[in-house]
Amino acid sequence: MIIRAQNISKVYNLNTEAEFFGIRDVSLEINKGELIAIVGPSGAGKTTLFNILGTLDTPTFGQIEIKNKNILSMDANEKSKLRNKVIGFIFQQFRLIPTLSALDNALLPLLVSEEGVDSPRKEKVIHLFETYGLKNQLTKYPSQLSGGEQQRVAIIRALVNDPDIILADEPTGSLDSKMSEYVFDTLQQIHKNNGKTVIYITHNLNLVEKANRVIKIEDGRVISDETCLC
Ligand code: ADP
Ligand code: ADP
Repeated sequence: MIIRAQNISKVYNLNTEAEFFGIRDVSLEINKGELIAIVGPSGAGKTTLFNILGTLDTPTFGQIEIKNKNILSMDANEKSKLRNKVIGFIFQQFRLIPTLSALDNALLPLLVSEEGVDSPRKEKVIHLFETYGLKNQLTKYPSQLSGGEQQRVAIIRALVNDPDIILADEPTGSLDSKMSEYVFDTLQQIHKNNGKTVIYITHNLNLVEKANRVIKIEDGRVISDETCLC
């Protein structure tokens, strides 16, 4: 098991009149290598859950373990180290830095890490650009790339530290259907070829169908959690 969440709730504005459960009493066991879609209407609690699974936020109640480590007993620094090593994030709005080339954007996690960028690491990233059909885009700036290409660069950036888990919050939410397929293909390959655990929020029914497991959230609760036998 790579993630275990036990009875987690997130309460916004605790003990005030505006108190509100973003998620309520959610328990999940996630195994290595799963490809999971998180679905549900707007306001259901998907991003709240995403932030907690990604250690970007802490639950108000409950326990969460990632790779057998209790997240709630960690300080901010320990969490940030764990996050950088174990989790790669992908967001709807790509979040590339406009003044850096595609390659430098992808290298950013290495540039800011203690290890730095050496040439084997750089070669590995260039190889990822080749694998994902971006070898002619290395020196281009984000504004010179299509949305799908930008998101692929963001996916490579998420892979640079070789994380066990990829968390994607509506990774195709700003792309048309053709570009969505193009980007999702990459996520599927990462899941298949590298054995990564991939968890993505989506509203796109075509992409929901491609998951091995679908977790439905409504009003902060898990209302169904189905693993397909495919
Ligand atoms: P989803 O991602 O499914 O759209 P969210 O997790 O973003 O849902 O939000 C779940 C609920 O929690 C929503 O009703 C939202 O308004 C509320 N919420 C989210 N963040 C905050 C916050 N920082 N303070 C108060 N309420 C919040
Ligand atoms: P939405 O689903 O509403 O589009 P985003 O996917 O843009 O939201 O962001 C999800 C949440 O993750 C936001 O609350 C954002 O502040 C937080 N976040 C994104 N990147 C980081 C990061 N590197 N470190 C800490 N928090 C982050």
